[in-house]
Amino acid sequence: MAMLKISEDTLDPSDWQAFRLQGHRMLDDMLDYLEHLRERPVWQTIPQEVRASFRQPLGGEPLGLAAAHDAFMRNVLPYSVGNAHPGFMGWVHGGGTPVGMLAEMLAAGLNANLGGRDQTPIEMERQVVRWVREWFGFPESASGLFVTGTSMANLIGVLIARTAASGVSVRQNGVAAGQRLSAYTSASAHVSIARAMDIAGIGSGALRMIPVNSRHQLDVAALERAIAADRQAGLTPFFIAGTAGTVDVGAVDPLAAIAQVAQREKIWFHVDGAYGALGILAEDIAPHLQGIERADSIAFDFHKWGQVPYDAGFILVRDGALHHSTFASPAAYLKREARGMAAGSPWPCDFGPDLSRGFRALKTWFTITVYGTEKLGRVISNTCALAQHMKRRIEAAPMLELLAPVALNIVCFRYRSEDADRVNADIVVALQESGIAAPSTTVIGGQLAIRAAIVNHRTNAGDIDALIDATIAFGEAIAKNANPDTVQL
Ligand SMILES: *Cc1c(COP(=O)(O)O)cnc(C)c1O
Repeated sequence: MAMLKISEDTLDPSDWQAFRLQGHRMLDDMLDYLEHLRERPVWQTIPQEVRASFRQPLGGEPLGLAAAHDAFMRNVLPYSVGNAHPGFMGWVHGGGTPVGMLAEMLAAGLNANLGGRDQTPIEMERQVVRWVREWFGFPESASGLFVTGTSMANLIGVLIARTAASGVSVRQNGVAAGQRLSAYTSASAHVSIARAMDIAGIGSGALRMIPVNSRHQLDVAALERAIAADRQAGLTPFFIAGTAGTVDVGAVDPLAAIAQVAQREKIWFHVDGAYGALGILAEDIAPHLQGIERADSIAFDFHKWGQVPYDAGFILVRDGALHHSTFASPAAYLKREARGMAAGSPWPCDFGPDLSRGFRALKTWFTITVYGTEKLGRVISNTCALAQHMKRRIEAAPMLELLAPVALNIVCFRYRSEDADRVNADIVVALQESGIAAPSTTVIGGQLAIRAAIVNHRTNAGDIDALIDATIAFGEAIAKNANPDTVQL
């Protein structure tokens, strides 16, 4: 293929027609990929020569677009983690959609910087903020912001709570000068809460990991005792993070009861709803989230249950003014005006640590408006129904056992064996290497579990059956010390 010619003076093509043809080829390749995903393995081991292709010095001559695209098709596309595939059930990853893909292309073409200024891309982000506010029953004064993911959203939650507890002066003086702050979350909470405490300068040591009950939910009585003990010791409890959908088993903390405690104790109530919060869109799941509407802040991801392509995290904050005062900074070149491009204050950069920001709102707006919230909610319900189907399959198979209750869309189980930890770890590797299904592992009560998180809108009952059947077949072989490669599936 002829090398695409680039203009002498710019980075644009000199022959737009040829570029257009190549562009259409690339679009077709990705549509083919999505249309025929099911025919591919979920994941494949990266061959040595493919890995080696990323260890090359930058050559003298530029590669050209067609050759760069070939390299992508050959060395990247087949060896990603595979979360777009219906058989992917590892960790908690969204599946993405063809609509989201096209929206990403539009966003890149426009190349809008959503830090600020008077432009409709920011109006579109504000539109999504309004919708999110409505979903969770938050007031009009509530603020919202797209961020990379829930890790960042949790950090923002901690920082606003720090302002609430210590006043805006904490931004200048730091926390060490003032009170000793303490925070609370469950022992099953995501590690990003502790990291947020660490990055905020309060220290992960000031985070109390409250025990959970048999359903892996935060024990509210233990929370109350921990708060009382800290007050007794002269600390200032300032932040409680409840979880809506724990990462290990999908448990939802008793959010209404936590809200009650937080209100009485005048402590910030944050919800880490990374994947679970969007359950608010599903009629049968929303009741499980009762109490989330009382949170001071909610962190969640559109890129998990919302199926928006990575990345698209979000923070919703009840007190928009406090949110603003936690991040807004005067800078001469960011001066606001009543008219012209510097109008439209406040800007997104006043609500988080980022100045330059991509157009995450576009792919999210497309996803919401093209599919509709009802359909997105049904996808969420369906993943939970599939988890119940998987649970029934496990309960019907004597060689399998369930290791945790199935509250939402995550199923933790294992193959019964004398040497269960080793056997199940080997089963998971065999499943991943087979390309049939890709669960991950976790540890439940000291036991290694096969963990299937059903998040992808493409996953169906056949995919669940394939995972269970393959688990049983690999389990039999591995328990007998046979080579799993010899298993006929
Ligand atoms: C995924 C997840 C996070 C982290 O979110 P990122 O988008 O990966 O930063 C935090 N909490 C929970 C419960 C999660 O499932």
